[in-house]
Amino acid sequence: MDLHVHSTESDGTLTPSQIVQAAEDLGLAAVSVTDHDSTAGVREALSASAEFGIEVLTGVEVSTEVGQTEVHILGYLIDPEHCRLTTSLTELRDARRERVARMVDLLRRQGYGIDLLRVQELAGTGAIGRPHVARALVEKGYVRSQEEAFDRLIGRGRAAYVDRFRLRPREAVLLIGEAGGVPVLAHPGLMKDDSMIPDLVEQGVLGIEAYHPEHSAGECCRYDQVARERGLLVTGGSDCHGPGGSKGMLMGQVVVPYASVEALKECRRTSQKTAPVSP
Ligand code: AMP
Ligand code: FE
Ligand code: FE
Ligand code: ZN
Repeated sequence: MDLHVHSTESDGTLTPSQIVQAAEDLGLAAVSVTDHDSTAGVREALSASAEFGIEVLTGVEVSTEVGQTEVHILGYLIDPEHCRLTTSLTELRDARRERVARMVDLLRRQGYGIDLLRVQELAGTGAIGRPHVARALVEKGYVRSQEEAFDRLIGRGRAAYVDRFRLRPREAVLLIGEAGGVPVLAHPGLMKDDSMIPDLVEQGVLGIEAYHPEHSAGECCRYDQVARERGLLVTGGSDCHGPGGSKGMLMGQVVVPYASVEALKECRRTSQKTAPVSP
């Protein structure tokens, strides 16, 4: 299973159907489309699921922050149409649009003449983000790669970086729970601060994405152990953004056994039994 893939509904380059088809080509049994702040691709992935005989787990990846550190929370087995979840995600996507407009404005004033309309076109109907800005900068020849765009211009603290409204991890965890899903801490290695993990667990995170392409073998082992010690689920995925993304077609390169999916489903069953009922 590859439990972490982005589609054109956020900053990936494959449509949800193409992801499911690629999962079949790669011989995977299941895949989860986990777009940034959006569940808009889930329905299409579910439809393709039957066609290609691949199990699709519903998913989302919510970007939150603690201080200056980004904390991404994956939500598995959510109801993609849950009202409160989709309302909050819509607000987050609105904040993304506003922020990208401000970043393009800053870039233009610094001599990088990219067009907001082009950036919006690259994002299509999906959750717009910095990778779309980076692609526009590459297109115009201002930078050679998306990485260079982040390193020089749009990474946190760089000249054209603008903050945006984000949820706190606790809010994302609650939202995912309300939508019937299981909250999992994404790629903890990218936070570069393991001391945050106990707090996030306290806040209701039920699993850790131990297996991720940007984790070293040692980190994968360490996070697997941290999860097991705390009785948390262990998940993993490629965080593929499709061919043409900054890292290429990573899908299927980080996979987890089906037992992970079964554990997620079991966790969902038990947490639903104990979840407080909203008035
Ligand atoms: P945003 O969601 O707009 O804050 O943009 C963050 C996204 O940009 C991440 O999900 C990655 O897909 C991508 N990203 C982050 N850092 C880099 C980098 N150094 N090079 C290329 N892409 C990056
Ligand atoms: Fe991304
Ligand atoms: Fe992430
Ligand atoms: Zn991701």
